[in-house]
Amino acid sequence: LTTAWKLSQDINNKVTILESSDRVGGCIQTEVIGKYLVEKGPNGFLVNQPYVWNLIHEVGLENELVPGSTLAGKNRFLWKNAQLQKLPGSILGFLFNPILSLSGRIRVLYEPLIPSKKDELDESIHAFSLRRLGTEATDTLLDPFVSGIHAGDPQILSSQAGFPRLTALEKRFGSIFMGLLRGGLGKANLTKGIQNPNRSRIWSLKHGMGQLVKKLESGSFTLIKNCLVRGIEPQSNGTWSIHLDAKSLSADVVIMACPPVATSGMLQKMDPEAAGLFAQIPANTLAVVVFAFKREQVKHPLDGFGYLIPSNENRDILGVQWCSSIYPGRAPEGQVLLRVLVGGMRRPDLAKLPMDQLEQLVFENVARDLTISGQPEWVETKIWNPAIPQYQVGHLDLVKKIRAVESRWRTLFFIGNGLGGISLNDCVRNAEECANRICAIPVSIP
Ligand SMILES: Cc1cc2nc3c(=O)[nH]c(=O)nc-3n(C[C@H](O)[C@H](O)[C@H](O)COP(=O)(O)OP(=O)(O)OC[C@H]3O[C@@H](n4cnc5c(N)ncnc54)[C@H](O)[C@@H]3O)c2cc1C
Repeated sequence: LTTAWKLSQDINNKVTILESSDRVGGCIQTEVIGKYLVEKGPNGFLVNQPYVWNLIHEVGLENELVPGSTLAGKNRFLWKNAQLQKLPGSILGFLFNPILSLSGRIRVLYEPLIPSKKDELDESIHAFSLRRLGTEATDTLLDPFVSGIHAGDPQILSSQAGFPRLTALEKRFGSIFMGLLRGGLGKANLTKGIQNPNRSRIWSLKHGMGQLVKKLESGSFTLIKNCLVRGIEPQSNGTWSIHLDAKSLSADVVIMACPPVATSGMLQKMDPEAAGLFAQIPANTLAVVVFAFKREQVKHPLDGFGYLIPSNENRDILGVQWCSSIYPGRAPEGQVLLRVLVGGMRRPDLAKLPMDQLEQLVFENVARDLTISGQPEWVETKIWNPAIPQYQVGHLDLVKKIRAVESRWRTLFFIGNGLGGISLNDCVRNAEECANRICAIPVSIP
């Protein structure tokens, strides 16, 4: 959608989106249920990078932006030793917080003295964290952090592809902490001059992220829904044939913006080698289970963003977001909205349970954690399959090979969360870069 929006700014570009489902937006799925606003996919974006922020301004939705609440920015919790524990908000805070044992904290303090990695070889984020921070911080902090973003297995995920900002700190400053202290992550100052009293780093839109999709959808391009693409094929005149179920369409340029498994299928006949590359990018399955309760049913104050759970706690759920505490307008007065993430690489079996069993299991978990009495007003579940691509160790080599395929075909482009980052910011950045590359193609091609 972003690429189509950008390309259609030039009236000479005739853009058509072929979307297999009956709605656009993919992972972004906002629904109104009664007086609740429910996000089944991303519930916001970070302003540590400018891409989504700028896109929202470009499409004229800047007055619809809403910052995350002060409490959501300040308070994040971890389930540890059978209770919720507040995570410290700063590096210094960690050193005085018993969430890690004294020896665990001393090991973390030692991080600047650990020599940096000498070779350029990729390693798992687990191996990276073990090396730099030690076992306890890896199991207690890194593991749930990885779950919260990728719903992935830290022992399999690539540090270089999945956490490039972290590995860059080691490379550039020799240490994560020294890098952080010296401002190595850069300071995004996007919200300067904007009404942002709590200096929030997380933002959304008044009517949810779906509002951005709706706006982009109104761009000057043709959008065909319920249109499953089966494959693509180069033609002798330099154009592309796009095979649908009952017919084929023709195009000068093709942009594939699907999950890797779908892209792999579409390339199978035309370029089995390229199809094989995409097939090596697996994705997890994730269940998002959303509950609505009366405020008085929940004893916990819900005074924050929510909580994550490390693997070694052996729980059924990955984490819980307290949606109505994060952004305004998510639940009516006197009610609360919670959403629970289940499955991922940690418990893929659970996302496959029959719906009633899954919802009951998840309800029992949150009811215990947050001391909830009675039944929810309603429960709504979304199963994402494929959910989030898993960038395994060596992912960047795969991406290089995929970019070489692109160069070979010249008018075929690959974007989407399978390659250059899974966050909305990454996806928008890659989509914009793709539009720029297409605009740079000399008009004589093909
Ligand atoms: C539950 C969840 C929560 C998330 N939370 C956040 C968050 O808070 N912040 C954040 O930054 N990111 C978050 N993400 C990640 C982010 O939302 C996604 O990485 C991003 O939206 C993916 O966008 P995409 O365009 O690459 O792919 P998708 O959104 O998956 O879109 C791909 C599209 O291709 C279509 N398609 C597939 N096959 C075909 C075919 N054969 N023919 C035609 N069309 C086809 C699909 O129907 C879909 O519309 C979350 C993801 C999930 C699943």
